[in-house]
This record gives sequence, structure tokens and C-alpha cells, in this order.
Amino acid sequence: FVPPEDIAKREGIKLNADKSHYLISVLRCKKSDIISVIDGKGKAYEAVISDISKDNVFIDVINEIQPGTESSLNLILCQGILKGEKMNLVIQKTTELGVKEIIPLITERCIVRETRKVKRWQKIAEEAAEQCGRTMIPTVHEPIQFNELFKGEVYSKFEVVERWGIGKMNGFIFWEKGGISLKEAVLKISPSHLHPFTSSSIHLFVGPEGGFTAEEVRQSEDYGLIRTSLGKRILRAETAAIVSVALVQNIIEQ
Ligand code: SAM
Repeated sequence: FVPPEDIAKREGIKLNADKSHYLISVLRCKKSDIISVIDGKGKAYEAVISDISKDNVFIDVINEIQPGTESSLNLILCQGILKGEKMNLVIQKTTELGVKEIIPLITERCIVRETRKVKRWQKIAEEAAEQCGRTMIPTVHEPIQFNELFKGEVYSKFEVVERWGIGKMNGFIFWEKGGISLKEAVLKISPSHLHPFTSSSIHLFVGPEGGFTAEEVRQSEDYGLIRTSLGKRILRAETAAIVSVALVQNIIEQ
């Protein structure tokens, strides 16, 4: 990953210390080796290592490439904040599975109200995106109170184009206490949201360890979310997050 403003220089781009170390010491790259570079916003390039001096690697961009590794859906995972490693796992795995954004939610039953981990979570998303060959790095947003998310003015801080009003939010709230099956729920989503890249976002709401309250579920339904079940058994929150992203893609993308 090289930031777009650095890629714009095209030649003599100095990589940061972490990336330089990785190329020199882990991948054992040499001058003139060809590498792939992503800008994290959806573009990928072939680049050549033009110089290695001391601990610094410099690259020149050769040309743009189209790896075609992005999901055609704009999936936004709205995840009740989970304890330590579980949240890290969800961010890593759902990045591999193609989510475009992750919104950490502070809900009534959140055990952890950790709001200072965004940098760490964003780094996990960056590493996972690089590892699996994505061209986009999902944005991990600042944690937000569940209630606040449904207010347009707060949501617009997330630079999401749409502003949500009653009945307008697209997606599913996963509830272990009942709901329609995901296959049925997908049919209720307007077809315009299912077309590759013309779509607005599909939100996947997964609760924290203690689950959503009935009131939170009701409130989200007012805003258009569909109460959805992932089967008869109560899944761990991290299982539910990973499985829901995989299933939604599998059902819609085919
Ligand atoms: N106590 C366990 C834990 O610590 O992980 C179970 C947590 S479960 C209540 C967490 C979230 O996973 C729920 O809020 C819901 O979003 C999702 N979930 C789990 N099982 C589900 C199911 N069968 N159907 C729909 N959603 C489910």
C-alpha cells in the first residue's frame, strides 16, 4: 500500500520504513525487481524498485493493472464493539471477504466501549487487504453510538453519499431471537442496490457479545433494516460477522 498522493509522483517514490523493511528483509527484494502496489482506493499498479539505499526503498510506477479482486457490493459492516482479539479477528476476516467499510458500534450491551483503537483496527485492515490482494483498504470509522448512526448529520461525517431517513437504510440486522432467512431478506432489498458498483451500500448489523436489545432491533427496522436470522443456533458474535459477510456475497454476487 502506497498512498495515492505518493503514487501520483510516479518516480522516485520513497516507501515508508515498514514497507522498506518488509521488501528488503522479508521478501529479499533487489533493485529492478517488479512489485505490485495498491493505492487503497481501488487502483493497483506495477512498479519497479528503482533504488535501495541503506534501509530505504524507492520505486517507479510502470503502469496501472486491473487485478479484479474487489467485491461488486458495497458492504458496510456495522459491528457492536467486541473484546480485544475478537474485534481484530472480525476486521481481518471481513476485510479478506471484501467489506468496504467497518463501523464500530457502541450499543447498550457492549462490554467494551473501547474507542481508542481505530488506528490499530485500520492497520489490521490495511495488512489484511495487502495480504489478500485487494486494491481497496476498508475504512474503519470512529466508533459511534448505535442511536447516533441513524441521524443523518452524524452519518454524513462518514463521507457516505447517502443520508438516511426513516425507512431508507438498506441492509440487515442479524438477530438470534428471530427473523427471516437471509435468502428471503435479500429478496426484499431493492434490485438497484444489487448491481455492481451502481449500488448504494448494504449494511450488515452484527451485535456485541451480549447481542442487540429488542428496542435497538425495533429502532433499526424503522430505518429500513431487515431483521434476519442466521439459523437456529446462537453464533459467537465474531462467527456471525464473518459468516454474514460471506453469505450475503455468496447469495447476491452469483
Ligand atoms: N454470547 C455469545 C458471544 O459472546 O459471542 C453470542 C453472541 S450473539 C448474541 C452476538 C451477535 O451475533 C448477535 O447480536 C447477532 O447479531 C449475531 N447472531 C448470533 N447468532 C445469530 C443467529 N442465529 N441469527 C442471527 N444473528 C445471530
